[in-house]
Amino acid sequence: MHFAIIGQGLAGSSLAIHAHKHGHKITCFDLEKKNSASRVSTGIVNPLVLKNRTALFKSKILLDHCKDYYYSVEKLLGKPFLINNPIHEILKTDHEIDNWKILSKKINIKEYIGSIENIHHQIDGKGFGIVQNSLRLDVKKYLTCVRDWLHETQSIFNEKVENVSILKNKIHVNNQLFDGLLLAEGLDAKWTQKNFGELQFAPTKGEGIVIQVNSIDVNFPIHRNVFMIQEDKNIYTVASTFDRNDLSVSPSINGRTTLLKHLKSWFKDDFKVLDHWAGIRPTMTDRKICYGWHRDNPNVGYLNGLGSRGVLTSPYYSSLLWGQHKSS
Ligand SMILES: Cc1cc2nc3c(=O)[nH]c(=O)nc-3n(C[C@H](O)[C@H](O)[C@H](O)COP(=O)(O)OP(=O)(O)OC[C@H]3O[C@@H](n4cnc5c(N)ncnc54)[C@H](O)[C@@H]3O)c2cc1C
Repeated sequence: MHFAIIGQGLAGSSLAIHAHKHGHKITCFDLEKKNSASRVSTGIVNPLVLKNRTALFKSKILLDHCKDYYYSVEKLLGKPFLINNPIHEILKTDHEIDNWKILSKKINIKEYIGSIENIHHQIDGKGFGIVQNSLRLDVKKYLTCVRDWLHETQSIFNEKVENVSILKNKIHVNNQLFDGLLLAEGLDAKWTQKNFGELQFAPTKGEGIVIQVNSIDVNFPIHRNVFMIQEDKNIYTVASTFDRNDLSVSPSINGRTTLLKHLKSWFKDDFKVLDHWAGIRPTMTDRKICYGWHRDNPNVGYLNGLGSRGVLTSPYYSSLLWGQHKSS
């Protein structure tokens, strides 16, 4: 079958790869916006909720799917995207160190609680708690490679979908005819809502800054309230904020102040801010990811609500969706 896919963020990309694995042909439509949720994503794959020191719901199944999926895409496209450097959580006090040791013996979470390592001297803390099984996806590289692959072996149009008509088995998208349609529109869910009803979005804005640092050279993500992630020699991203009130896509003074406050509470050296950006996470009110095939049009499906963990969750939910397709 020939499927149209609207959106080539994390959702649309994994739906496209799964469609290909199921033997279907794909034409993707995506407005390549610089500040779409996927394109500003920091790419962290983290099985823990670090704030509460708990494991994420379904963490093991999500992680297994995630690793299998990205390794298989690396193989398919012949390019590496996964960076296997675990999160280093800053532990500030003896109490936090003791608590980390206790967690490392606790069932359901111990597989994610690694050793405690010596902290870097520019960082204010007693030690780094290693988050085992965490990793990072180079999201920009992954999206570009999937886009190139679509361009070379399938089809992709850098255009807005203005027109969708679904009449029995005839699906027209921007006046092209398809057998099926997958909607992966993120927050601009015009066609999803038209076909599946209103989605209960509770979007969350996230902001980040890019800084230049001279004193430190670490290739693993450091975390306490915010992540500090190396992008290049001396260049780090510090992200992200969570804001449910300000939903403008532009960076704000408030966002920058919050990021600097968190960073300065543990990073003890000078740095220069080079850039500041913002994006909006497609989060739902109940925090659940929503997906499904249309009751009357079984070749029309959607995936949305990936929220703040789209890198980890998109492979699993794409595979669930495809598992429910009648041709599978
Ligand atoms: C600041 C920030 C940091 C984040 N960090 C992480 C992280 O570290 N780890 C993690 O797992 N997740 C992270 N996330 C969350 C993750 O980025 C999202 O869950 C994910 O990107 C959502 O993907 P999506 O494909 O559903 O939506 P989107 O990325 O928004 O993609 C939808 C695409 O559809 C296109 N589109 C929509 N309508 C049309 C139309 N009519 N015609 C053509 N194209 C259309 C849009 O242009 C867009 O490209 C972060 C998010 C933000 C904002």
